[in-house]
Amino acid sequence: MLIFATRPLSFISSCHFPLQQFCNNTITSMDSSKLFSTMAADHSSSREPLKVESNGEAAISLQEWRGWGTTSTVPSMVTQVVEDLNMLEKNVDAQMVFGGNHGKLSGDFKVQEDKKHRAKYQSLGDSEQKLQFFSARQIACRVLGSKGYLCQKCWLCSGDCMCSKLITCPLWNPMRFWLYMHPKDFLRQNNTGKLLWQVFGVQGATLCLYGITEHEDMMWDALKLAGKDKVWCLYPNKNAPTNSVKDSMAGLSFANVENHPEMADGAHSLNFILIDGTWSNSGAMFSRLKDRYKLMWGEEEIPCITLNTGASLMHKLRPQPSWDRTCTAAAAIGLLDELHDLPNFVSYGLDKQVNALEDAVKVLFETLTIRRLRMGRSITRKQRHNRDIF
Ligand SMILES: [Zn+2]
Repeated sequence: MLIFATRPLSFISSCHFPLQQFCNNTITSMDSSKLFSTMAADHSSSREPLKVESNGEAAISLQEWRGWGTTSTVPSMVTQVVEDLNMLEKNVDAQMVFGGNHGKLSGDFKVQEDKKHRAKYQSLGDSEQKLQFFSARQIACRVLGSKGYLCQKCWLCSGDCMCSKLITCPLWNPMRFWLYMHPKDFLRQNNTGKLLWQVFGVQGATLCLYGITEHEDMMWDALKLAGKDKVWCLYPNKNAPTNSVKDSMAGLSFANVENHPEMADGAHSLNFILIDGTWSNSGAMFSRLKDRYKLMWGEEEIPCITLNTGASLMHKLRPQPSWDRTCTAAAAIGLLDELHDLPNFVSYGLDKQVNALEDAVKVLFETLTIRRLRMGRSITRKQRHNRDIF
């Protein structure tokens, strides 16, 4: 996500302090982003030697599904993928084994499953079906492969769980964040989008997985209820004029909202969609939002807002391909911070919510650093790119 506020830089800079507690290197703010990039590469290069094996029939219960931070029923296509994996396990002489992290199948079962899912993918008629299958398979494997391995709340290995260090803080009632997340970012330890619902709760920040029908329908039903003038996407739309926070929000009045607490039931007044994926995935994700917005309201462009940032700053930060993933929480912090500066928002305590989210990012950053140093890994190694579609 290419949205950078002046405020997030201040917390990235402030990360010098905790980092220096654990290593002697002097780390600049740009090096901090490299650290996150390096952590992003963990999944492919050096995972912990733990393997997760299916124990007979693999399944995902509603309780387990919601435990990961989602608010929907178990998606039917995810259930279908799990059933297909169980069927395959019965039909081939190999046990379903996941290689410790991020739902990567391993061993003989992986060889068999690769053939099967590629054939299925090819057989699907249109790109919509292919996307839904891709997403469901990613999600199913990630959930099955993380069972008993990751803490469901913070998505870190159970031994690294940071949940006890987090302080929750309710989001101002009329606001709601939607984390529109790419399946490859689901259950990633270094994902910062998850911090939003950890801090604000799932009603203040709701996960919507890209390509998962149940999630997308749930989000668009809520947006429909709120109305088209209550929806914004934080995205630098190159093909349409984007507005600043001030342009979009300074004229709004909340007298009615404050007098109608029933708004909390679904018709949130201000809905902000944050695209939580890599920069390379974000274009397709934004297009999908735009198409659905047009289908629902007949408008060509979904209203986009950008945060305050200078061109030179953008230029400096852009070269980090994985940096975008770290900026989901930063974008939320930047938005809340800019809103708090507006006279019509100043009395709603958004500054406290900024502080709470900044603290959560620092906790995550420290936890990942400790983990990495404990495992004897460099915290400045360059990222390896391994982002094939399957
Ligand atoms: Zn935890």
